[in-house]
Amino acid sequence: MIRVENLKKYYGDFQALKGIDFEIDDGEIVGFLGANGAGKSTTLKVMTGYLAPSAGNVFMDDLNIQAHSLAIRQQIGYLPEMNPLYGEMRVYDYLEFTSQIRGMSPEAFKTALDRVVDQCGLREVIHLPISACSKGYKQRIGISAAILHDPRVLIFDEPVSGLDPNQIVEIRNLIRELGQHKMLIISSHILQEIEATVDRIVIIDHGEIVANGTSRELMSGFQGRTQLTLDVKYADEASIAGLARNIDEIEVADAQAVDGRSVLSIEYTREVDPREAIFEYAKNSGWAILEMTQHQVHLEDVFRGLTGEGGGHA
Ligand code: ATP
Repeated sequence: MIRVENLKKYYGDFQALKGIDFEIDDGEIVGFLGANGAGKSTTLKVMTGYLAPSAGNVFMDDLNIQAHSLAIRQQIGYLPEMNPLYGEMRVYDYLEFTSQIRGMSPEAFKTALDRVVDQCGLREVIHLPISACSKGYKQRIGISAAILHDPRVLIFDEPVSGLDPNQIVEIRNLIRELGQHKMLIISSHILQEIEATVDRIVIIDHGEIVANGTSRELMSGFQGRTQLTLDVKYADEASIAGLARNIDEIEVADAQAVDGRSVLSIEYTREVDPREAIFEYAKNSGWAILEMTQHQVHLEDVFRGLTGEGGGHA
C-alpha cells in the first residue's frame, strides 16, 4: 500500500501542494486528475523521490520517502511527463544503460529485455536509434525502461499526452495490461483519457485533493444526480412549493418565472425516476406542461464543477 500523507511543497514562496492525502491499495489502478498546474507532476515527483517534500511524507508499507528514498525508488517504475530519452542511442543500448543504472546484472538484463520487448511490442525498433522512432514507440520505450526492473509500483505522468488517437488506444491497452499485475498511478488533465482505464480517480485542484473515489462514487457523492427541467403554464406559487413536499424523491426544486410560464429545475438521485409522479402532480394542479427534459450529470460535469475545467482541452 502507498500512503501520501499531508504532503506540502513550496517552490520559493509559491505553495504548489497544500497538504495532499490519499492512498493506493495493492493491485489498484488510480487516475490522478487535475487541470494544468494543479500539482500532479509535483506530487508524482515527490512520490518517486525526485523532489523532496517541504512537509509530509509518502509511505510504502513500512518504508517512507524521507528516510528510505533509495529502497522506495527500487520498487517504483516512473515515466516522467517529458519522457527523457537519448535520441542518439539505439533502443537496445538505452535499455541496457537503464538496466546498468538500476544495478541489474547482464543476465537479469537479458531476461528483462525479452519480457519488455514482448510486452511493449518493441521488436521492430530494438536496433533503431530512438530519434528514428515515432512518438508512440518513444512512449513504449519510456514505459519499457520504467518496467525493466520489474517494479511493484508504476507511476506514469501524462503517458498519452501528445499521442495521436491510434497511439492513445495502443498505449492505453498496454497500460491496462501492465495494471493487471502492478499498482499503478496515471496522471492526466483529460478525464476521458483515464476514465476507462482506472479503478479510482483522485482529483487535485490548486494543490489540494478535491475528490477521491470510483467514478460511481464521485457521481453520487458530488453531483451524481439527475436534473429535470419542467416548463409549465398556470402554476401558482403554492402548487410549485407543494411539488417537492408531495414527491419524496425530489431533493431540490427551484422555479423561475419566464414570460408568464414557470421553469422548474428539479433534482433527484440517479437511482429514482419520479417523472410519472411529477406528471400526475402537474395534471392534478392544473398545470399545462410545455416541456419536460431530463439531463444526466456526467463525470465530466463533476470534474468541471470541482476544478472549473472542461478537461477536454489538449
Ligand atoms: P501540468 O500538467 O501542466 O504539468 P501539473 O498538475 O503537473 O500540471 P505541476 O507541474 O505539479 O502541475 O505544477 C504545480 C504548480 O507549481 C504550477 O503552478 C507550476 O507553475 C508550479 N511549479 C512547478 N514546478 C515549479 C518549479 N520548478 N518552480 C516554480 N514553480 C513550479
